[in-house]
Amino acid sequence: MTPTPKVKARHELISPPDLDKMLSDAEAMIKKLRGDIRDMRSEAKAYLAYKQFILTASKSNLSPKTVLAGLKFAAQCVRTGDWDLVTRVAGVSGDLEARGSCPRCDINLAGPNLQPREHTLPCGIVGCPFERDKEPIPLEQGVI
Ligand SMILES: [Zn+2]
Repeated sequence: MTPTPKVKARHELISPPDLDKMLSDAEAMIKKLRGDIRDMRSEAKAYLAYKQFILTASKSNLSPKTVLAGLKFAAQCVRTGDWDLVTRVAGVSGDLEARGSCPRCDINLAGPNLQPREHTLPCGIVGCPFERDKEPIPLEQGVI
């Protein structure tokens, strides 16, 4: 009767220097994959924004010229990575005429000189640089 050859366990086949190399390779692969995931998330963010642009444009009552200008501006913001402005202009509740916001009260600013439109004033926020006709109303009283 011949003795059955002893089968080595997996950990017995790998020498410690090999384990160190495997661990180092695995860590490098994990780092690379994390970078790939980050890149894909970033790229997907732009595609999802463009998808929202279509929905926002299709719901708009503005003139086609105004809608197109807003979409072009939003696309420029995607390229520069200004995601707050992307959302402000062409997001779910986007304002395709917006080109910025008041640093104090956050109302949308439009036009080449970045001014609030008449229907957005008065904003009622104390210290807003765009309030001009009325005394600003303290925030608590301005909210209805
Ligand atoms: Zn303001």
